[in-house]
Amino acid sequence: MKKAIVIGSGIAGIATALRLNKNGYEVSVFESNSYAGGKIHAFTNKGYRYDMGPSLFTMPQLVDELFILHNKNPKDYFNYSRKDVVCNYFWDDGKRFSAPANQGEFINSAAIEFNTSHEVLRNYLTGSKEKYDLTENIFLRKSLHKWSTYLSFSTLKSLIQVGKLHINKNLDQVNRQYFDNPKLRQLFNRYATYNGSSPYKTPGIMSMIPHLEMHYGTFYPKGGMHEISQSLYRLAKDVGVSFHFDEPVTAINITDKVAEGITTAKAIYKADLVISNMDIFGTYQNLLNEEKQPKKILQQERSSSAIIFYWGVHRESSELDLHNILFSKDYQEEFNKIFEEKILADDLTVYINITSKEDESDAPEGCENWFVMVNAPANFGQDWKSLIAKARLSIITKINTVLKIKIEDLIDSEQVLDPIGIETKTGSHRGSLYGTSSNSKFSAFLRHANFSSAYKNVFFCGGSVHPGGGIPLCLLSAKITADLCTKP
Ligand code: FAD
Repeated sequence: MKKAIVIGSGIAGIATALRLNKNGYEVSVFESNSYAGGKIHAFTNKGYRYDMGPSLFTMPQLVDELFILHNKNPKDYFNYSRKDVVCNYFWDDGKRFSAPANQGEFINSAAIEFNTSHEVLRNYLTGSKEKYDLTENIFLRKSLHKWSTYLSFSTLKSLIQVGKLHINKNLDQVNRQYFDNPKLRQLFNRYATYNGSSPYKTPGIMSMIPHLEMHYGTFYPKGGMHEISQSLYRLAKDVGVSFHFDEPVTAINITDKVAEGITTAKAIYKADLVISNMDIFGTYQNLLNEEKQPKKILQQERSSSAIIFYWGVHRESSELDLHNILFSKDYQEEFNKIFEEKILADDLTVYINITSKEDESDAPEGCENWFVMVNAPANFGQDWKSLIAKARLSIITKINTVLKIKIEDLIDSEQVLDPIGIETKTGSHRGSLYGTSSNSKFSAFLRHANFSSAYKNVFFCGGSVHPGGGIPLCLLSAKITADLCTKP
């Protein structure tokens, strides 16, 4: 039986392992941590349960697909429910908007709340769908680094209609074309953060993301986001994938430009294929450090990172839902500070995720588990202690202004995660959440391919390579990679 080694048990690592196992490989996963899941992890603190990383779950069908691939009923492993409300939005002047997930209801409600015509909203969302349909097949489901991708009918069709994709304008410019209301623009600009980019730099093609939320929906997994990685980990064990925890890989062993296996602190392991799910930067710097480095790719701008406060809050808040956003007054200033100056603005947009709204057992009675996050620059050695203090103050001011409470008196317990912590726990270069940023119109093409062009039998999957970060794209990356491994 042919052997495959996967380095890292992030979501894409587990998904690639499952696909290669199905293709007849004996698969072993090596992980530096003592647990599977990478960024999709959870912890408890003083009676509160928290998801450590991702909080928004879209395209659950990509998870289900892996159970079906192994002839299992997804429901025996993993259950989730669809949300009726995408997000509750708040502004300092008292304006609030609860965004319905249903597209028709969203249009009706947003038209009234933001004094905008139904037609303009409908046109925008139709354009969003059109962009998604034109690009899904090329950008998300195939390697961009194989000629065959460019010779297909679907690619040619998209290239002919390239004007509709708005790649020569940034997301904010596209949104300005449609919406006069600055609050509505801010609402649609925020979709740039779904891949850690700035709406003032990322191309207008990103206006396809609202379609994903409104057409396919947003979901909450029973047991929390952590169940996404844990259910796939259980499946992988059931079908015979073996896991080696607390065993960091130190080298990919190459002879005459062909991968022969890996080295860890404990042993040398032989394999026919080596697939790295760790950050592409670390893969080259640490595991292939004797080999030629793709400098241009490794120097690309990283996506934003985050500062997260995990608060046990002694209060039940009827105005909040699972996802809540309290917007800053000057969105552009916020992103300029993050990407140009690599610091934080004084007034920040605050995201609050409360899973005890979905599952009461995540917090003690009468309390809530608040995951409070602000976007932050990637780690360039800034003074994080003072940036965390600044973020905390800005968050408290924002919450108190908007919700008219004194949040500092309601916090029972606190833990903090910053870009250094994200880098330490997951190996993500500079603590970025989504690998490289999508701040250029060429980003999709500059992301590293899912295979090595220099070494035979070396492949890559996960958020730092094609097609990019976020749970759905990582799952698609696993599929592209596994297909390349078996049908090069
Ligand atoms: P990772 O999760 O990055 O895992 C890589 C694994 O490799 C780790 O387990 C690491 O320990 C291991 N590793 C590293 N080096 C070695 C080595 N030398 N040897 C062995 N193992 C090694 N996405 C969404 O879809 N929705 C969200 O709401 C969302 N919010 C986010 C919020 C935060 C705070 C963070 C951090 C991320 C968020 N994301 C979100 C992004 C999403 O979590 C990631 O894109 C995705 O989980 C990355 O998965 P991955 O497969 O690339 O691997």
